[in-house]
Amino acid sequence: MTSALLTDATILTVDPADRTIIRGWIAIEDGRIAGLGTAASMPDPKRFDMLHDLAGHLVMPGLINAHTHAAMVLFRGRSEGHSLLTMDGWYDTIREPELSLVAADIGPAVALSCAEMVLSGTTTFCDQYFFAEQIAAAADAAGLRAVVAYGIVQLGDQARGAEELALAAAFVQRQRQGRVIAWFGPHAPYVDNDEALLRAEVAMAVENGCGMHLHMAAGPEDNALTLARYGLTATQALALDGFFQGRVHAAHCLDLSPEDIAVFAAAPAASVAHCASAGLRSGRAGICPVVDLRAAGVTVALGTDNVAANNSYDMVAEMRMAGLVASHREGRAQPVSSRDLIRMATIDGARALGIDGETGSLEPGKAADIVAFDMRGPGWSETPDAPTALIYSGSGRDVRHVWVAGEQLVTDRILTRRPFDEIRHEYSATYADFWSRVAAAGKAH
Ligand SMILES: [Zn+2]
Repeated sequence: MTSALLTDATILTVDPADRTIIRGWIAIEDGRIAGLGTAASMPDPKRFDMLHDLAGHLVMPGLINAHTHAAMVLFRGRSEGHSLLTMDGWYDTIREPELSLVAADIGPAVALSCAEMVLSGTTTFCDQYFFAEQIAAAADAAGLRAVVAYGIVQLGDQARGAEELALAAAFVQRQRQGRVIAWFGPHAPYVDNDEALLRAEVAMAVENGCGMHLHMAAGPEDNALTLARYGLTATQALALDGFFQGRVHAAHCLDLSPEDIAVFAAAPAASVAHCASAGLRSGRAGICPVVDLRAAGVTVALGTDNVAANNSYDMVAEMRMAGLVASHREGRAQPVSSRDLIRMATIDGARALGIDGETGSLEPGKAADIVAFDMRGPGWSETPDAPTALIYSGSGRDVRHVWVAGEQLVTDRILTRRPFDEIRHEYSATYADFWSRVAAAGKAH
């Protein structure tokens, strides 16, 4: 594999000491970070196949989008004016047309999503949807790192739930290692997956050593159902069902009570994917209690959610939104620092997904998942703090180079594996075909 030396960059290591290295270097060998440091310790450039002079660049770990549904790019712009965090909004604008999806739609859609993600600096994403096989294949073809949670929507049909569970188990057993790994993904507990199915999913996840990714305390129905039935919030009802014994990664979490936060804190591997843009867009008053969760020791990662609920995969924008909404919620200026926002979008995302030994920070021995932002363009200027400049002045569109496992997937803003135009044209044909099928089925919203 090609070795590379990156030089003269401002490097955010996001390692335990959270170092910023000015005019630093990083060596990539055999897909891993072989070393990094200041100019004084730089190895001989002649030893490397590729040299990248990154003066004027910010270099950091690849961003981790901890919650999305990549195939749903097909619904971008199709749910405007509707909340996607209520059963009605989701059912009317997503679920009904979704019934016209076929497996052949997924590859082109996920390819476009992966292209947008990597071009804006995301190197790992956590996905939850059906058609998990096709999503995993498309992520693999794009070269990204991914956790693909096999989505199970039961909606009162027990036979369908059992059938889906068997397929999910087979998927998880096949897709256990490499850049793309498999999890279970019950859509939303109690709302569309019953207790028996949830318990079966937990047992299988624990048995297979994989995680569960789900939506939790996102819409009003989540807690309303369990409060009416058991007098408990969804989080506490799930805890009673043994849900928190394994790895649980919960998206949204807008309505967590102090008791719910205690459940997350006491669990061995529970984390939250805070999707600030999607939460704000829904119009719900609840905002994920990020400050309280972090104070309780809970890992909080950041996600865009699907691009019908967000419209963008830009994780720089998502860091900015998370920072601003935390200020609004807490009633004080910037209770979550820029450095913490960077950690949430990198190492905390990796920790949530159980891959922090492999990615999420720039440390010798870890996979070379690296992004280089060009800080020389408009919108940037001399600044005392690089993380703040990136989050509040920069954008995913400032990404110049991206490596995943040492492979350069973006060079000078261009995809290396497949031309973006080819991906876009294939997607456009799929989009037209899908929506004409939806219209023919009488399900167009
Ligand atoms: Zn979601």
